[in-house]
Amino acid sequence: MTGTGQTGTGQTGTGAAGADLLRRLPAGVRAALAVGLLGVLAGAAVGLAGGERAATVVCLVVELLAAAVVTARVVILPAERGAWSAMAAALLLHAVEELLAASSVGGIGLWVALSAASSAFAVVSVVAVVSARLVTQTPVMWLETTIAASGLLAVGAMLVGPLGGAGWLVLVHVAGPLVVLAALVGGLVALAQRPTPAWWAITVGFSLMTLSAALTTAGSAWAEGGPGLAADLLTGVGTLVVAAGAWWSRPRATGVVAPLSNLGVPLVFLVAALVVELVDTMAEVPVLAEAAAFVALTAGVGRLFLAVRSAQRVGRTEQALNRTLRQAHEDALAAAAARTAFVANMSHEIRTPMNAVIGMTGLLLDTDLDAEQREYAQTVRLSGNLLLDLINNVLDLSKIEAGGLDLEDHPFDLTAAVDDSLGLLAHAASARDVALLADVDPACPAWVRGDVTRLRQVLVNLVGNAVKFTHSGDVVVRVAPAAGPPGALRFAVTDQGIGIPRDRMDRLFREFSQVDASTTRRYGGTGLGLAISRAIVELMGGALGVTSEVGVGSTFAFTVVLPPVPAPTPESTAPAVLHGRTAVVVEDDPTNRRILVSQLERWGLTCRAFASAEDLLDATDVERPDLVTLDMRLPGLSGVEAATRVRERPAWQDVPLVLLSSLNDVLTVQERAPFAALLTKPVRAAELRRVVTDVVTGRRREPSRAAPARTGARLRVLVAEDNAVNRTMAERVLAAMGHDVETVGDGGAAVARTAEQDFDAVLMDIHMPVLDGLEATREIRARGGAHQPVIVALTASATAEDRQASAAAGMDDFLTKPFRSQDLDHVLARVVPQRSDAAVAPVPGAPTAPATPGAADPAASAAPDVPADPAEGAPVLDADAFALACEVDAASGGALLGAFVADCATGADRLDAAAAAGDPGEVAAVAHAWLGACATVGATGLADLLRRVEDAARRGALPGADVLGAVRAEATAVTAAVRAAVSA
Ligand code: ADP
Repeated sequence: MTGTGQTGTGQTGTGAAGADLLRRLPAGVRAALAVGLLGVLAGAAVGLAGGERAATVVCLVVELLAAAVVTARVVILPAERGAWSAMAAALLLHAVEELLAASSVGGIGLWVALSAASSAFAVVSVVAVVSARLVTQTPVMWLETTIAASGLLAVGAMLVGPLGGAGWLVLVHVAGPLVVLAALVGGLVALAQRPTPAWWAITVGFSLMTLSAALTTAGSAWAEGGPGLAADLLTGVGTLVVAAGAWWSRPRATGVVAPLSNLGVPLVFLVAALVVELVDTMAEVPVLAEAAAFVALTAGVGRLFLAVRSAQRVGRTEQALNRTLRQAHEDALAAAAARTAFVANMSHEIRTPMNAVIGMTGLLLDTDLDAEQREYAQTVRLSGNLLLDLINNVLDLSKIEAGGLDLEDHPFDLTAAVDDSLGLLAHAASARDVALLADVDPACPAWVRGDVTRLRQVLVNLVGNAVKFTHSGDVVVRVAPAAGPPGALRFAVTDQGIGIPRDRMDRLFREFSQVDASTTRRYGGTGLGLAISRAIVELMGGALGVTSEVGVGSTFAFTVVLPPVPAPTPESTAPAVLHGRTAVVVEDDPTNRRILVSQLERWGLTCRAFASAEDLLDATDVERPDLVTLDMRLPGLSGVEAATRVRERPAWQDVPLVLLSSLNDVLTVQERAPFAALLTKPVRAAELRRVVTDVVTGRRREPSRAAPARTGARLRVLVAEDNAVNRTMAERVLAAMGHDVETVGDGGAAVARTAEQDFDAVLMDIHMPVLDGLEATREIRARGGAHQPVIVALTASATAEDRQASAAAGMDDFLTKPFRSQDLDHVLARVVPQRSDAAVAPVPGAPTAPATPGAADPAASAAPDVPADPAEGAPVLDADAFALACEVDAASGGALLGAFVADCATGADRLDAAAAAGDPGEVAAVAHAWLGACATVGATGLADLLRRVEDAARRGALPGADVLGAVRAEATAVTAAVRAAVSA
């Protein structure tokens, strides 16, 4: 009946299957069906012709034929033989009942009994077929089947209700086929399959038979002893269709099932039963309908109960699953935290020995090595640095993943932060002919609040990549206000590099992933930078994105909210002296030119910009400016050549010139001479502002007019010293020597400053708070990097252990406090040239080969401004040095000059005594100690005399009476001069 393998989905399919089946019917069956059909038609014709009796006979023959067809199925097809035998019996009994009724044999009781038996056999057949085809049996299935079957019965019974007048026996005649129909619908639901053509055929057949029974009952045909013609015809066709369906029906072919919508059919019949119950409240319905509706509703309640129970079970299962899930999530978090802690610990553990490896390799590299050894050691240091980078990255990543990275929230200078980031990459950029530009929109606030360290980390990462993947061209960092909440800023790093293929973009931000496998080989890297950057940006509430085109370049951009704050020192952002000043900018790169001009204009200067020196020289309408900035590399005339030409203009001879060069540009002393200041690209905005301010106000002039330094170079020196007096002293001494000096008060600050800025030398006090000098040095050395400053230890004790300790920590030299300016000069002259690179600018006019200690004539190593012999009339005190000493003296409560005067009072006597005792060692010692103090206060003449005495004594010669006399005289003069100056 249902579930045949040939369940066609479309009309044609079904039709074709039917035709196919008909063809496959045994000839006998086909003939029987054809004869049956013809019989029905003949019966109809005979009936219409008036021979009702004959028509009935023909229809009876047709019914018998139908029974014969089903019997033939049972005989021919072994499948479901028992079930279809019952159907054959049902059809046969029906035909017999019709025959008896037509011939008025027996009574109405017999006919009804036969009719009921026929229906019972049909129901048995349906139930048997369904049971044979059932795969599973569940309470739900039985309930739904009951709902469908009894629902249909209720509706059917209600519809035939009006026939009730014919008496209950007659009603059974109608109810029988109805029950079969109910069984068919129930079977369909039980099998949960869509109806097949065979099912439809059988259902239609029994519907026709039900209709026929209803007609005969309505027409009270029973009373007249036989059904009318229409009923006969319906019965004939009905049985024939049932026979065809029975023939068609095949057991289910495994695997091919068209499922029935599982709620639809029972629901329809439940509603039908409800309607019946509703009608019952208003009018009388037959008992059968009422009973069936009751059964359907009861089954519906049962079904509802089961549905609720299973919903509860699902709910409980879901809760249990959620609990398991939550537990698993917590376990995973705990595991991640444990892993992060482990990674963090491991990184720290690895870092400590790595520091030693890198530090010691650095020391090793400072020793005498042959070329091969040097190469090995350099490889070790390079690999060590790479490893350290990797460890730092892994540590960062695990911190971020574990949520352990807390962002700081401090005010910072936005432009300086961008400049710092670029500054760190200046070396890398200049090595590859890449120009680094910072373009901070003037609409951005000068100071903002946020985590500057992490912002710098992201920028360094992005700019580092941009430089790494660009062979030549610009890398521009643009900062501009962005749409969104107040304080939203967009940072974009644009390069002109190799670009990234579209299909590889998704890999970019994955950890340990690079665009392609050859990247590591060609460019190095770990594939962690972008993952970290993205995580940091997301932590800051932004998102990191990229646009790129292969061969053209890439832009990595992110927007974060950095709320504006008032600048702590407003004048530092816009110095008033610059207002209303004029500047001429000569720069060929349009981006750079625009940035430079916009920076200058932001500080209140009025600018004229030119793309080449020729343009400037050709322009006749340019008024004398307060400042000219020249790019070193210009098309046509270079910056240096342009400087000379600019100076040829009569009115422009003293216009201060500033040269913007790259780290690669090495200038000779003559080339530097015309410039008041040299700026190395990328130019920090703060640096530019300071230089422009200094130059415009005349505080900074061409180096040819500045005091020459004795080392022959103007150095950037950092003094790390916790004692304020000593710090000021060192600062002033170094400044007087022509160096650029900066001071910090502890080792930690020294480490930080040297990371931010390349210093040529660091004077490092050994005993300091936070980090002592040795620790700080180790950190600086361990950090590695392209630039390492010379580090000179400053200490009060000069034991051999101290020397060894400072050398072991990575210091280059050693200076005992209090030191003399000459000592300092000697040390710097000795150590700086070994390490100095192109960035150390020689000072014009200074000796190119710096003096070294122990040179044959120590006087030659003295400052050029110190006469070899105290000349007649020359001041006994060097004004500058003495002014400085006075300042320091004031700051130290008069200790410095007091001690010096005391030295002078006893010095000559002690020297005399040592000479008289014939002890050159003692003479040298006394002279040396005294000499240091003389140099400090600027008693250069006396210092020089004493140096001669010391040197001679070191060679074993004792000073003669004339020399001792000269020393005493000079000492008296100096003491008098000091006293006079102090009392004045
Ligand atoms: P690393 O640079 O250490 O390999 P990153 O995570 O910083 O790791 O970058 C991942 C990869 O993304 C790089 O290896 C490179 O292939 C690609 N990439 C990053 N930035 C750029 C860029 N500006 N231009 C081209 N490719 C880039």
